[in-house]
Amino acid sequence: MSINVQAYQQLIAELSPKNISLVAVSKIKPVSDIKALYDLGQRDFGENYVQELVEKQSQLPGDIRWHFIGHLQSNKVKYIAPFVHLIHGVDSFNLLKEINKQALKNNRIIDCLLQVHVAQEETKFGLDERELNELLLQVPALKNVALKGLMGMASFSDDDALVRNEFRQLKRLFDHMGQPGISNLKPQILSMGMSGDYQIAVQEGSTMVRVGSLLFGARI
Ligand SMILES: *Cc1c(COP(=O)(O)O)cnc(C)c1O
Repeated sequence: MSINVQAYQQLIAELSPKNISLVAVSKIKPVSDIKALYDLGQRDFGENYVQELVEKQSQLPGDIRWHFIGHLQSNKVKYIAPFVHLIHGVDSFNLLKEINKQALKNNRIIDCLLQVHVAQEETKFGLDERELNELLLQVPALKNVALKGLMGMASFSDDDALVRNEFRQLKRLFDHMGQPGISNLKPQILSMGMSGDYQIAVQEGSTMVRVGSLLFGARI
């Protein structure tokens, strides 16, 4: 239960000249580990489970930017709406509508990313290209969500060419989203890359990586 300071400093040195944000994924890890990384200057943390996030948020400094990176159920949006900084995994209009509703209740505008499915595994959540384009047409009706870009995961694979190709697909959809007439948005955030594949993601245009085990050690 301790953090890898050297890996953290190396990661920051790699990412900051390129203006790429680092979300430190702290799921299952104790508050003390988050605080240790916080004390080194890290402010963006990512969590996958609502209850765990709410508990940790109440125990940690108020200037942490909390990213929700898991699969969010509509009935749980209300618990994180007061404070969440960015919701990465939005993959339905119903969920986006609920985020909009809870954001309004909290007098906030909540930043969101749409999750796109590019990996080969069936189990990964996310929209396909057609669903993405349909959803983009509906987003302007919601005034209390700000759509900032896309999030995705590549296949869990040693095949670098496969992983690279999937990140490329995400980048293509991200660029397409910013075209005039497609969404009237200026997408700024492309959240892709984890401990095992962030270097490839960075080469393919990631603006935000979500790294857990490299910083906090393996999860059991
Ligand atoms: C757990 C998780 C990560 C971090 O994975 P590591 O391999 O530990 O870096 C990143 N993104 C999502 C969506 C996750 O669930």
